Amino acid sequence: MVKDLFLYNTITRQREHFEPLNPPHVGMYVCGPTVYGDPHLGHARAAITFDILFRYLLHLGYKVRYVRNITDVGHLEDELAEAGEDKILKKARLEQVEPMEVVQYYTNRYHTFMTMMNLLPPSIEPHASGHIIEQQVMIREILNRGYAYESNGSVYFDLEKFNKEKGYGQLSGRNVEDMLSNTRELDGQQEKRFPLDFALWKKADAQHLMRWPSEWSEGFPGWHLECSAMGRKYLGEKFDIHGGGMDLVFPHHECEMAQSVVATGSPHVKYWVHNNMITINGQKMAKSKNNFITLEELFTGASPLLEKAYSPMTVRFYMLQAHYSSPLDFSNESLKAAEQGLSRLMKGVELVSKLTPSDASTADVQSLVENGYAALGDDMNCPVLLGHLFEAVRIANSVKDGKERLNRADLAMLQDFLRTFTTELLGLVPEGSRNASGDELLGKVISLLLQQRQEAKLRKDYAASDAIRKQLEDLGVAIRDTKEGAEWEIR
Ligand code: ZN
Repeated sequence: MVKDLFLYNTITRQREHFEPLNPPHVGMYVCGPTVYGDPHLGHARAAITFDILFRYLLHLGYKVRYVRNITDVGHLEDELAEAGEDKILKKARLEQVEPMEVVQYYTNRYHTFMTMMNLLPPSIEPHASGHIIEQQVMIREILNRGYAYESNGSVYFDLEKFNKEKGYGQLSGRNVEDMLSNTRELDGQQEKRFPLDFALWKKADAQHLMRWPSEWSEGFPGWHLECSAMGRKYLGEKFDIHGGGMDLVFPHHECEMAQSVVATGSPHVKYWVHNNMITINGQKMAKSKNNFITLEELFTGASPLLEKAYSPMTVRFYMLQAHYSSPLDFSNESLKAAEQGLSRLMKGVELVSKLTPSDASTADVQSLVENGYAALGDDMNCPVLLGHLFEAVRIANSVKDGKERLNRADLAMLQDFLRTFTTELLGLVPEGSRNASGDELLGKVISLLLQQRQEAKLRKDYAASDAIRKQLEDLGVAIRDTKEGAEWEIR
C-alpha cells in the first residue's frame, strides 16, 4: 500500500513530494487566532485544514511537533499601514476590562469551539506576550546585521536594503515597485525611511496598556515578529511546514520570511501551505456588511443568514467537501446538503460493522483503499477521498441487500477503511449523544402527532392532515407514508 504525501508549496508554486528535513520528525507552525473576537468560519477552515494534515502526518508515523500560536499583542487594526489601535486593546477599552481578560476569554472560546469540531490540540500553543524576550533578541540580531534601524524609540525593518540585496516578495509574488504605487500617506509613516518598512518594535504611546521595557523604548513588538521568534524557538532555524490562511501570505508571512532570512541567514521554511478563504452566499465575509457567521451562531442557529442550527460535525464535513486551496461558499442550502451527506456517511460506518462475510468477493476493496490513500496524499484532496468513502458506503449497502458479497478479508478491509479514514483521518465522529430520555419522549410526541394526522385523513379532513405534515417538516421532521403507516426521521 503506497502511503505518500504531496503538498502544494506556495513559494515554489509547485506540488512537491513531502520529505521532512529530519525524519521521523516533522515541525509544523500554523498562525493561530488573534484573540479579540469570537471564532468564525475563517478560523474553522484554517484549523480544520491543518488538523487534517496533522492527523495524516501522525498516521504516516511521523513524530510531529505542531505549533499554533495565540496572537495577543501587536496586531494593529490597519495591518498594512501598521496603524490604528491594537485589536485586543480596542476590545478591552470597549468592554472596560483588562487586555489579558480579553485574551483569556477569547482563547477559551476558541478552544471550546475547536474541541466541538473534534480538532486535535497542537503540541505547543505559545502566546506572543509570553515571548517578548525572544522577540527582542531577534530585533537585536536584525539590527546588528544592518537590516533595521531605530527611529524615535521604534525599530523598523529596512525593507529597501533587504529588497536590493536579497529580494523581497518571493512568497507572494509581489514586487516592491507595485507595492509602492499602492501605498497611502498615513500618520506615523514619517518615522520610516521607506514607506514599506515594517515595525519590529513600536514605542507605546501614553494610553497603550500592553507595554514592555526594552533598550529602545517602552513598547511592544510588531505583529510579524512573533511567528519568526516562536517558530525558531520551538522548531529550530529551519523547519518543515508553515501554514495559515491565504490572507496571511502578504504581508504577514512575507515579512516573517524576511526577518528570518536576516536573523538566521537563510529561509526558515521548506513547505508553505495556505488555505483559501470562505465566502457567504457568494460574498466575502465581513462583519461590517452583516455577512459574517461565528461558530456559536452556526451551532445554535442564531443568525439571520441561517434557517436553523448546524452541528459542529456538519460544519467540519462541509469544509472537507472542498479542496483546502479552493474558495468555499457557505449558504443555508449547502449546509443542509452537507448534513444529509454526513448522516449517510456515518450510517455507512455503523452499518459496515454489522455485515457478515461470504465465501467470495464481488467488489475490489483493495483498489478502493489505495485510491483513498492516493487522494489524501495528493495535497489533501478530501473531496475526492469523500467520493471513495461514499463508494465504500454504497458497497456496504449492497452487501446488506444481498446484491454484492465480500469475503472475510475484504469485509475487514472495508470496515477498517471506513473507520480509519472517516474517524481517525477526517476526524468525523458521531455527534455527542443527546439526552436519551428526551429522545424517547420526542419520538412519542411525533408518533402522537402522526396518529392525529392519520385520524384527520380518515375523516377526509385533508387540510388538517396536510397542516400537521407541513408543520412537522418545517421543524425538520421528514415524513414518509408507507404501507405500514407513516415513518419519520429528523433531518
Ligand atoms: Zn503568524
